[in-house]
Amino acid sequence: MKYDFLIVGAGFAGSVMAERIASQLNKKVLIVEKRNHIGGNAYDEYDEHGILVHKYGPHIFHTNSKMVFDYISQFTEWRFYEHKVLAKIKDELYPIPINRITINKLYNKNFQSAYEVKNYFEKVREKRYPIKNSEDIIINQVGVDLFEKFFKYYTQKQWSLEPRELSAQVCGRIPVRLNDDCRYFTDKYQYMPKEGYTKMFERMLKHNNIEVILNTDYKKIIEDIEFNKMIYTGPIDYFFDYRFGKLPYRSIRFEFENLGVENFQESAVINYVEEMVQYTRVTEYKYLSGQKSNSTTISYEYTEKEGEPYYPVPTDINRELFLRYKLETQKIKNVIFCGRLAEYQYYNMDQAAANSLKKFRELLNDGK
Ligand code: FAD
Ligand code: UDP
Repeated sequence: MKYDFLIVGAGFAGSVMAERIASQLNKKVLIVEKRNHIGGNAYDEYDEHGILVHKYGPHIFHTNSKMVFDYISQFTEWRFYEHKVLAKIKDELYPIPINRITINKLYNKNFQSAYEVKNYFEKVREKRYPIKNSEDIIINQVGVDLFEKFFKYYTQKQWSLEPRELSAQVCGRIPVRLNDDCRYFTDKYQYMPKEGYTKMFERMLKHNNIEVILNTDYKKIIEDIEFNKMIYTGPIDYFFDYRFGKLPYRSIRFEFENLGVENFQESAVINYVEEMVQYTRVTEYKYLSGQKSNSTTISYEYTEKEGEPYYPVPTDINRELFLRYKLETQKIKNVIFCGRLAEYQYYNMDQAAANSLKKFRELLNDGK
């Protein structure tokens, strides 16, 4: 069988590309996925207790892009959901992102207005200029004590690096608030797919022009398949057989547990920001799905160096290595590199989708 496109990886990046190519160009697509399921890291499934869990950790859909939201909405209905996260210090829970409630509770203050909180940050912050890394960006806003309490150890655990070794983009994902807004995200669209991500991906890929092969590394079959163009969404260093050395990706070990209680913790996610607790966060999945049940399923996250690649590690040195690989991609004409692993970018799901939609438009323009 001859295909127009071979797509490596059935996550957001690969699936959006496949859907567009099949439905808009009427071209034949083969997706090769090495896992035993579609959906990439957004994959979810019902566990043996009937709770919808995310196999690769909590995935909350949020975007400011109407274009992306409208596009994804073709494949799912939504459940309104605004994500909240608490950080645990000693036996107390505090809103994260840091906001007025966090400051009042932590320092026993009674700030009533954003103005007072702003003044407080002005007093405790340490000016850093230029902002070069993840330590600078937080200390420049809220000073050393809040940095050490909420960011230093969580970041060490998550990345096995000091915040000052990581791009400002990492801790810069977390805003600092002057008000009482306890939501993790403030995007215009914040929802969970009503029947889960996997169902959404199934609808996306249900097309006569799309064929999916699971449990297969593309390198095992590439010699046996005829195709015109490849879209590659796996790790970029693997594509080039680690020619310049391995690019670090951070992995996570998830430990799932079902408990015979209706409810385990006070919010969907609790971040363990202290050094002595080994895991980074605990997720209680019922908050995400809105399910009612007598039992509840939670997951603990332990980050690890080896294992499935989940996060690119944004440091200067890794970026340099990535750019060497990127230069190689420019020498290859019939492969499009796309997604979190292939572009070594800390994309959220909406960004991965937006990026694939952009790459699809470029593909259209190239064809003209
Ligand atoms: P992936 O989902 O990684 O898909 C790549 C696919 O390629 C995988 O299925 C992989 O098995 C396959 N593949 C790789 N190599 C090969 C090969 N050699 N042959 C065949 N197949 C191959 N984003 C949000 O917007 N909100 C969140 O709350 C959120 N939470 C997250 C929590 C965690 C713990 C993690 C790790 C990520 C989170 N994300 C979140 C980010 C989100 O997972 C990504 O944006 C999205 O999955 C990127 O899609 P992708 O297709 O680029 O990559
Ligand atoms: N972070 C932190 N403390 C927190 C939350 C986040 O130090 O309570 C830092 C940490 O380095 C983390 C980064 O900010 O990796 C981004 O956090 P986010 O919750 O966006 O991570 P993700 O959901 O992508 O794992």
